[in-house]
Amino acid sequence: MMSIVATKAIQDLSPYVPGKPVEELERELGIKNAIKLASNENPLGPSKKAIGVLTKGLLNLHRYPEGSGRLLREALAQKYKILPDQVILGNGSDEIMDLAAKTFLEPGDEALMGDLTFAIYQISVTAHHGVSVRVPLKEGRYDLDGMARHFTPRTRLIFVCNPNNPTGTMVGQRDLVRFLDCLPTSVIVILDEAYQEYATSPDFPDSVGLVKQGRPLMVLRTFSKIYGLAGLRIGYGISQRKIVEYLNRVRLPFNTNSLAQSAAVAALGDEAHLRKSVRLNEDGKAFMTKALDELKLRYFPTQANFIYLDVRQDGRSVYEALLREGVIVRHIQESWLRVSIGRPTENRRFMRALKKVLSDLKEKNRA
Ligand code: PMP
Repeated sequence: MMSIVATKAIQDLSPYVPGKPVEELERELGIKNAIKLASNENPLGPSKKAIGVLTKGLLNLHRYPEGSGRLLREALAQKYKILPDQVILGNGSDEIMDLAAKTFLEPGDEALMGDLTFAIYQISVTAHHGVSVRVPLKEGRYDLDGMARHFTPRTRLIFVCNPNNPTGTMVGQRDLVRFLDCLPTSVIVILDEAYQEYATSPDFPDSVGLVKQGRPLMVLRTFSKIYGLAGLRIGYGISQRKIVEYLNRVRLPFNTNSLAQSAAVAALGDEAHLRKSVRLNEDGKAFMTKALDELKLRYFPTQANFIYLDVRQDGRSVYEALLREGVIVRHIQESWLRVSIGRPTENRRFMRALKKVLSDLKEKNRA
């Protein structure tokens, strides 16, 4: 009999639950044309320039990638006017969160994060024997003052998700700077900006500027969201050289693949695609929030490409009823769902399905 067990912390850990794939739902229900608004992907897909370089890359698949992704790091360094040594690449930005936990946590060290926020912070911290200290959000926003009250001599990492997943809310420049000003000297802030390119608020922090000031900050961004390259798995971190150098000591030598690296370089060069994606998202956001207002449903103001909304009843039932309408969203907790902003047809389909589901459930409850 096998008597292998994971560490105590990992026995208690729930695995990350990804959005349900369209194919899976179609197979289960025997339907076609399901739509997925559950993983905050760019409905336009990637830039054609990114797709264009992949064909050439296919001919070199027998070669190992350039381990550190030099060309992409140089392109990012040029874009942000920093040094290539300030950039680290990851197999998705979530790999870099994991690297940070691996690099900086001694067993029992604490990592602060919001509650609710992106699940991978807690998983990585636990996997590397740290302790997650979860500080409740305030009005759906990261409560930086509340987090500052949780500093202890064991605090090593602070995860700040901005805009926050799943709420879509943001912290602004002034609040962030005030927070950084009162950090203990032994702490690194991991500022996860996976949705930064979608943020249109003029108060959205100039995080790379804060790195340039020498702050103990690691800014994480990704090609999975607005750049539409989630399937290739590539993200990056920008920080002080010393911090990047530590992470590079534990980064596996070929963590990012050659196709992802070259597609990302090409994607960076297509600003028109970026602008088009932001515009589509802004239009979709306006449509969705107006429709939610008409339904008198509460949601948080979003700076991202998704909306966190309160359906004022068991959210799981609404989620499941939406699945039966061929619409995949995310049930986050209690009465709250998160829906990604898609193409206009998808947004309309979601709103139609939501109206129908809410009215069907009302009927059912009345009966
Ligand atoms: N941060 C946040 C807040 C996210 O929502 C996601 C993806 N769901 C990621 C990071 C990870 O993105 P990736 O690993 O694909 O770069």
